[in-house]
Amino acid sequence: APLRVPQSQHGIDRRLVSRHAIKVCDTLHEAGFEAYIVGGAVRDLIAGAQPKDFDIATNATPEQIQPLFRRARIIGRRFRLVHVVFGQEIIETSTFRAASSVEQTTDEHGRILRDNVFGTLEEDAARRDFTLNALYYDPATEIVIDYHNGVADLKNRTVSIIGDAAKRYREDPVRMLRGMRFAAKLECTIAPATLAPIREMAGLIENVPASRLFDEMLKMLTCGHAMNCLRQLQKQGLHKGMLPLLDVVLDQPGGERFVELALERTDQRVRAGKSVSPSFLFAALLWQQVHVRWMQFREQGEVPMQALGLAVDSVLDDQTEKLAIQRRFVSDMREIWFMQPRFERRLGKTAWRMIEQPRFRAACDFLHLRAAAGEVDSDLAQWWMDLADADDSTRAAMLDDAA
Ligand code: ATP
Ligand code: MG
Repeated sequence: APLRVPQSQHGIDRRLVSRHAIKVCDTLHEAGFEAYIVGGAVRDLIAGAQPKDFDIATNATPEQIQPLFRRARIIGRRFRLVHVVFGQEIIETSTFRAASSVEQTTDEHGRILRDNVFGTLEEDAARRDFTLNALYYDPATEIVIDYHNGVADLKNRTVSIIGDAAKRYREDPVRMLRGMRFAAKLECTIAPATLAPIREMAGLIENVPASRLFDEMLKMLTCGHAMNCLRQLQKQGLHKGMLPLLDVVLDQPGGERFVELALERTDQRVRAGKSVSPSFLFAALLWQQVHVRWMQFREQGEVPMQALGLAVDSVLDDQTEKLAIQRRFVSDMREIWFMQPRFERRLGKTAWRMIEQPRFRAACDFLHLRAAAGEVDSDLAQWWMDLADADDSTRAAMLDDAA
């Protein structure tokens, strides 16, 4: 039987729970179904962090859920679930799911390709990845249902996989990365049995589709503890499949400082609840490599802008092979990079054209980062920042002075 953990032990403050999530549970209860808040939200609430979003697990099927709400749509092909929409907030509502070995199809590496059988609450808990992600909160009774000792693990700050670690990583290698991310974010240690197989199994990451890897990478970089995550990855040999050059970057004396500054800045923004731009972040992570190759092409006699173009293309080619950086991010990264050489002087009249570029502000921030890393003069970077912040008449005066 599962533990039924009362509020006095799990300590969830009901006021921090999305009222829309409570509403979905209430509505399902009134219709005679079971319904719980589950997963990341319960974990974060117990750990004292602000949940990103709220997911619901229920024994109602998608067809039973949808008509209970005014704005709800069934989504997903592989596994159908319901999005219940309240203004800006979407409450993802899924039917309990089993990871039955009969219905499950795995590839030759043991990776799960299909798992779409409805199941019981107990089965739903067993197919989740870590004990601290398998907690079910009933907002009506404020009880947390805990089949795998997740509350205790969370209180002891331990990330522990459910079941046999090697088997669970073979089913889905991304779980190795997720474990590292939760450990970094929640300041947990990874349980020995959960950690042990990772080193040897790290290579399985190569079988993961690039788009999924990109999503996970982005989550790691924006979890508020990015540097910590990357160090962990590096230690376990997991960083190699992520950004092919990240290992190089982290090992380069100059590059390390730059990446560190970029990630510190990102972590600060995330922790302050501000948005971070993925393009800016990837532009920063890959900059050192761009810079090195840029200089190489210049030594080969290319003119500066031409050389930069060649460097950018070659770096992006290397990256997109394994880590599908989305197109829209790539074009922003290019703009940020290509503005850098043009910042190296205080321009007069032509600066007006730069100000009008859509990524001017991001490119300025990037210049600022380069200055902090000692790569360009900080007065120059400050001048451009001031220009970015100034109103039109102040700008005109600054540009007249520079001309
Ligand atoms: P975050 O949203 O902060 O990344 P999360 O735990 O909510 O964390 P999601 O990817 O939103 O992560 O997944 C929701 C829940 O689904 C998880 O808490 C976990 O119970 C389950 N889950 C997600 N990915 C996996 C996986 N690869 N294997 C098993 N269970 C998973
Ligand atoms: Mg989530």
